[in-house]
Amino acid sequence: MEFGNYEEFLRVLDSDLAKIFEYQKEYIYCKPGCSLCCERGNYPISKIEFDYMMKGYDRLESDIKNIIKKNIEEQKKGDPESYTCPFLIEHKCSIYENRPIVCRTFGVLTEDAKGQAGFPFCATVGLNYSKIYDSEKGGLSSELAFKGKFKIFPKIFRLSNKVVMDLPLAKELNVDFGEVKRMIDFL
Ligand code: SF4
Repeated sequence: MEFGNYEEFLRVLDSDLAKIFEYQKEYIYCKPGCSLCCERGNYPISKIEFDYMMKGYDRLESDIKNIIKKNIEEQKKGDPESYTCPFLIEHKCSIYENRPIVCRTFGVLTEDAKGQAGFPFCATVGLNYSKIYDSEKGGLSSELAFKGKFKIFPKIFRLSNKVVMDLPLAKELNVDFGEVKRMIDFL
């Protein structure tokens, strides 16, 4: 299977996301070795994202593939709404270059279904955007945002999977995402 247009889409998306993460860097704690975002989620992905992940998987050594197969078996026994991604090995993504969109966008403030600030869950454990997170309210603390003397105000980005898949660029490049479901349901 050819992924030329999808790879071009990812190239532009990654470049835009790098600017977004840089712009919000005062609030971001992402660093190598932190894998919390891969340890609990349902990871909604589309068919093309899954096929692209499997392209990365096919390139792995057989011992790594065996670990992933075992992880899949294990995670299939648990809660499909919250599980550790089977591709996570020793706190690293084994298919990083081929990871799906939700893994690329995770970490910034996004618009939730009500149009409010949707915090990445790591805000609750002192990580991204925790400086402006009101744990009692479970949302943005305007007081902390104003008192914090940040150089850049926290910005809410429209980065849900649906928004990303509906970007005009996807149409221009003719990217057919296909069916969307939880990663575990593809495996
Ligand atoms: S695919 Fe990689 S980045 Fe995405 S949740 Fe799994 S281990 Fe994490």
